Amino acid sequence: MKLTVIGTGYVGLVSGACFSELGFDVTCVDRDERKISMLLQGDVPIYEPGLTEVLSQGAKAGRLHFTSALPKAVESADFVFLAVGTPTRPTGHPDLSQVYTAAKELAAHLSGYTVVVTKSTVPVGTNRIIEQSIRTANPDADFDVVSNPEFLREGAALSDFMEPDRIVVGTSSDRARRYMDTIYKPLVRRGAPLLHTDIESAEMIKYASNAFLATKITFINEIAGLCEKMGADIQLVSDGMGLDHRIGKAFLKAGPGYGGSCFPKDTAALTYMGRMHHMPITVVEAVITANDATKSRMIDKISGLCDGVLSGKKIALFGVTFKPNTDDMREASSLSIVPALLEAGATVNVVDPQGRRYGEALLGNVNWIDNPYVAAEGADAAVILTEWDVFRTLDLKRLADVMAKPRMADLRNIFRPEEAISQGFEAFVALGRPENKSAH
Ligand code: NAD
Repeated sequence: MKLTVIGTGYVGLVSGACFSELGFDVTCVDRDERKISMLLQGDVPIYEPGLTEVLSQGAKAGRLHFTSALPKAVESADFVFLAVGTPTRPTGHPDLSQVYTAAKELAAHLSGYTVVVTKSTVPVGTNRIIEQSIRTANPDADFDVVSNPEFLREGAALSDFMEPDRIVVGTSSDRARRYMDTIYKPLVRRGAPLLHTDIESAEMIKYASNAFLATKITFINEIAGLCEKMGADIQLVSDGMGLDHRIGKAFLKAGPGYGGSCFPKDTAALTYMGRMHHMPITVVEAVITANDATKSRMIDKISGLCDGVLSGKKIALFGVTFKPNTDDMREASSLSIVPALLEAGATVNVVDPQGRRYGEALLGNVNWIDNPYVAAEGADAAVILTEWDVFRTLDLKRLADVMAKPRMADLRNIFRPEEAISQGFEAFVALGRPENKSAH
């Protein structure tokens, strides 16, 4: 079986690499020639743990190819995966131009029976339009369309792909269903549940899942805000809630608001679909508003820690990517928090293990510093914004010693307040816990 994957972003590259690891012959196509030439040289355009190794094994074994020549890659394929971007327009409706352009481009080159599989997250009804557009462009083509949404998480993408909670295959064609069963057989054999659905349900499963997770995160963030006001500890509250198996402990960690390439755009798309069909998804509308408020609350917290005056203050900021183990900066909290700090007149020293590659163009006027203790020298506050492991092991005493004012806003709750205070911090604010000040 030959697979072609169109789009070598986080989803396309991981899917291509993993299918080649499973033994299939895979060609990854991207219109971005810079990305393709990097990949041909063995460089990887994104940071994802383990990806470099799997890509190089696939290339060495001759099962993984990279090209910007879409026609040839499609001609020889039994499966063509669409893994192109679906960003948001200001209205909330996803911009589907990459999907429709790719569908038009591939139509003329289909040869023999081909399954066109949409991995990109697309609104309900989109796969029917893709099918129609291919049929119009190439009435003789022998193909079926499948919605096969992707659920991988950046930072754990390879294991999520190889050991998924579920594989969703939405199609109205028995033949395409059998084809899909063939390529996912290795994962099903290892225990992955494969759910067959109609196309529309598969499309909806993706949006409903992401909106639900965004709701869970936002819920706990609001409860954290209330804990601060009422003297409860969010960590204990999350533990106590999560032990209930109907709730589960995942996604119950308070943080500075969700970001990333999926939740903001998928919640916006779902509410847009609701409005268009006069069935507003009011819960998710409220989640979007509450998430924006959470992000603003973080700026107030940092400002409060600096006695309400950010002008002239030096802030050491740890972590700018939207979560650890990725270099993805899309919709990261840092993109609203850092500009607010700069605008208020603060100087910001940024430390992030992988954030600089894409962050440099997005966060102007900050100082990128590799060593956290150098970044903290003479600082008036330290802010933990992304919970990279390297920050969890910071020597708090050493950090406090080099700061002008040893104060910390831990917006990921990676340290215990009493621990920070005992190591020399004079003020420490976390999420969902009472503010701590040193006795001296
Ligand atoms: P991305 O923006 O990182 O990558 C998309 C790639 O497609 C780019 O490299 C772009 O150059 C390429 N491309 C666009 N049009 C093309 C064309 N006509 N021909 C060839 N290449 C083309 O996107 P991503 O983050 O990988 O997401 C892809 C889709 O998967 C989106 O719909 C997203 O919502 C969904 N998704 C993403 C994640 C995630 O964690 N990133 C998880 C699950 C689902």
